[in-house]
Amino acid sequence: MTDTPNLHIAVVGGGPGGYAAAFLAADLGMKVTLIDPETNPGGVCLYRGCIPSKALLHVAKLIEESEQAKDWGIDFAEPKIDLARLRSWKENVVKKLTGGLGQLSKQRSVQYIQGRAGFENSNTLRISKADGADQTVSFDRIILATGSRPAIVPSLKLDSPRMMDSAGALNLEDVPGSLLVVGGGYIGLELGSVYAALGTRVTVVEMLPGLLPGADRDLVLPLHKRLDKLFEAILLNTTVASVKGESNGIHATFEGADVKERERVFDRVLVSVGRKPNSEIPGLEKTQVQVGTKGFIQVNPQLQTSDPSIYAIGDVVGEPMLAHKASHQGRTAVEAIAGHKVAFEPNAIPAVVFTDPEVAWCGLTETQAQKENREIKVAKFPWAASGRAVTLDRPDGMTKLLIDPKSERVLGVGIVGAGAGELIAEGVLAMEMGALARDVALTIHPHPTLSETLMESAEVWFGTSTHVYRPKRS
Ligand code: NAD
Repeated sequence: MTDTPNLHIAVVGGGPGGYAAAFLAADLGMKVTLIDPETNPGGVCLYRGCIPSKALLHVAKLIEESEQAKDWGIDFAEPKIDLARLRSWKENVVKKLTGGLGQLSKQRSVQYIQGRAGFENSNTLRISKADGADQTVSFDRIILATGSRPAIVPSLKLDSPRMMDSAGALNLEDVPGSLLVVGGGYIGLELGSVYAALGTRVTVVEMLPGLLPGADRDLVLPLHKRLDKLFEAILLNTTVASVKGESNGIHATFEGADVKERERVFDRVLVSVGRKPNSEIPGLEKTQVQVGTKGFIQVNPQLQTSDPSIYAIGDVVGEPMLAHKASHQGRTAVEAIAGHKVAFEPNAIPAVVFTDPEVAWCGLTETQAQKENREIKVAKFPWAASGRAVTLDRPDGMTKLLIDPKSERVLGVGIVGAGAGELIAEGVLAMEMGALARDVALTIHPHPTLSETLMESAEVWFGTSTHVYRPKRS
């Protein structure tokens, strides 16, 4: 299978970047050691990120849908929430998946060490094992996949069990009466939605003028409208100036031009203002690895650091901090180590916010095109014209293509609507294949599905969408 069976490589960090790298290296015949503090591989994504949050978002969606079902003549009783059971279901999901990864490691003969690694030199790691023992091992190559951690804002530093980061919020210790979410990004909106569905009054504070600053405004609008109903308040252009622990909760003060109520007490506070790379690896100064100003480890397109023996992937090397980017970088790094001619140069990396509706995009965004003064055309298909969306009673969606007016090539795709996160994969494939709008329009999509909205948005570009009437120009 490979020409590099004798290489011994270490992967530091067992998240979706690290384990994908370790497993491919083993598949290519290398001897692999994977090091992580948890019992099994999985990292933040599986233990306290993507997976538990999606399990809870699934529950939130069910609660919301059962409410909406009244409109369809189905009246469910008020849901009774058994929090202990919900928690244990979520924990079982995590256990099943991380246990599965443990099995896959064994099957591939990846040596999994539960512990933390630091550098002795460019090729040698000292591993402090979870069982208390220390081990020093040398490797031909080392891949750093140490991930990221929640960013902390000095004004929000408060030692109180009522203050939570994403991991704390996922523990779901209770359903607080009120929750202040600081930061209207991915985590704030996803976990805010979970707590709101469970019955908490949620207030989201965002310092910028809009939610999800990285996404196009027309994609955020339908989400904002729905969240306006689900949340108690969404305060834009607002920051939390201070938090103070009081006997009945956390007293927060707000600052900003639009602020009406300057202070309030909340049962709990979730701080979700971004993440920081975990690049403070012990002994890194004994290597030639360079760390940039924002704390990201610097790498070339092969994911090799300034130290020829050391590669780095995932959140620790830069934005976007997304699991699927990390896995692909991990695989690229391993292939580079194996001597294959590879580079991490994707045309599109999808972003998905798993709210309801979901927001997903890939490639160029309209905001970015405007900033860069790029000439693009946008073709939009409203979901109110999609049969499938109407059968789901979810016409509050939109699919759009960003198209190069000269070549008619698809430069970006944006989708808002129920299940947008699944649909965006077609956009990514179109972009990776260098598809033209015509290719998307000519691809027969199954009916009735939401995937047709991609085909029809391409038809909109040609003015020939079956379900969108365009008056003839006189
Ligand atoms: P984020 O960058 O998505 O959002 C942070 C938000 O906080 C921004 O809107 C920012 O303007 C705002 N903010 C920053 N400082 C603030 C302050 N002092 N007061 C008020 N608002 C403030 O970050 P996140 O939600 O913490 O998530 C971190 C990262 O984790 C994401 O960028 C993403 O890479 C990853 N993530 C991805 C998913 C997913 O793929 N679905 C889900 C969760 C997290």
